[in-house]
Formats: sequence, C-alpha cells, structure tokens
Amino acid sequence: SESHESHDPLARRLTVLSGPSGVGKSTVVAEIRRSHPQVWLSVSVTTRSPRPGETHGVQYFFVDDAGFDRLVAEGELLEWAEFAGNRYGTPRRPVEERLARGEPVLLEIDLQGARQVRRSMPEARLVFLAPPSWEELVRRLTGRGTEPPEVIQRRLDAARVELAAEKEFDLTLVNTSVQDVCEELLVLMAVH
Ligand code: 5GP
Repeated sequence: SESHESHDPLARRLTVLSGPSGVGKSTVVAEIRRSHPQVWLSVSVTTRSPRPGETHGVQYFFVDDAGFDRLVAEGELLEWAEFAGNRYGTPRRPVEERLARGEPVLLEIDLQGARQVRRSMPEARLVFLAPPSWEELVRRLTGRGTEPPEVIQRRLDAARVELAAEKEFDLTLVNTSVQDVCEELLVLMAVH
C-alpha cells in the first residue's frame, strides 16, 4: 500500500520552481524578493562559496561540509541534492511552519530536489521554468562569467538532461520575460 508522508491539503500552498541551471530561476526569485517583499521565500543551505553580492541568510545560508552533514543527520532538511560539486538543501522547519499557517511558500530548487518534494508532499505544485530555446540557455550559462569553464561544462551537461524532465511537472512557464514569469507565479500562489 502507498505510504506518503503527507497528503496534507496545506501542502497545496507549496510551489516548487525548478528547471535547468541558467534558465533564470534565481533571477525570478530575486525579482519577487524585490517587488513583493511580503512574500516569504525559503532560504536554502549550501556548501558552495558565496558569489560576489551574495549575503549569508539572504540568497543562501553558507555552511561547511560538516555543518551540512549535521543538518542531514538531524533530519533538518526537507530535501537536499548535490549539484555541480556542491550540496544544497531546504531547511524543513520554516517551510512547515508557514504551510501550517496556510501561508504560501516558494522553493527554488534543482530537479532532484523537486522530485523529492513530489514524493514527500504530493500536493505541492511543481513548476518547470523553461528557456525560450536551447541556444538561449547555452548563452546564459556561458555568459555568466562567474564560473570556471569546467564548471560551465558540467552545468551544460546537467541542463541537457534536465530539459527532458519537463514532462514530470504540473506546468511549464517559459522564461521569455522575468516580469511575466513573476506575475504568473504570484497568481499561482494567490499572492496579490
Ligand atoms: P546556484 O549555485 O547557481 O545558486 O544554484 C545551483 C542549483 O542549485 C540551482 O539549480 C538551484 O535551483 C539549486 N538549488 C538551490 N537551492 C537548492 C535547494 O535547497 N535544494 C536543491 N535541491 N537545489 C537547490
């Protein structure tokens, strides 16, 4: 028989934004943070180093490997995944607290994480952010200029595989305009 951890209708308030690296997920989230500061956004934990302009506690909580191990061991992460040599995870408690209050929650996570949420919280809404074209995705991944070539290559390889995952999602938003994607997400989340 099926044994899902949660068929909780409250999890319907959970929106998961995923898609290939470089498609613009973090830009979308940054824009929501700017334009709708009243919307609470989950802050992930990561073992990667901060990029210029990133602040501990805003884009991520930056931890070392031992710190991440401890969070995993203590069951403090709702989901976690290894991506391009670093680990990323969603702190469980802030998400559960907000869902319990009926408040909307938005997670911006990679595909592996989205699959974990699908299993543990089947009521969550999974949104796939798609690039306008493969060429545009390559341009974005190559153009960021903050990563060494081997890291970019790893991300391109991952992106090619990740594009095929679109069919596993509840809906797709094509990232032709950051504004449009934000508006569509906010409508989905019933934020006005
Ligand atoms: P970046 O290093 O560019 O900030 O993020 C790399 C990838 O990790 C992106 O695809 C991003 O969506 C994903 N990511 C960020 N936070 C989390 C998380 O908490 N869990 C999972 N599974 N992926 C995450």
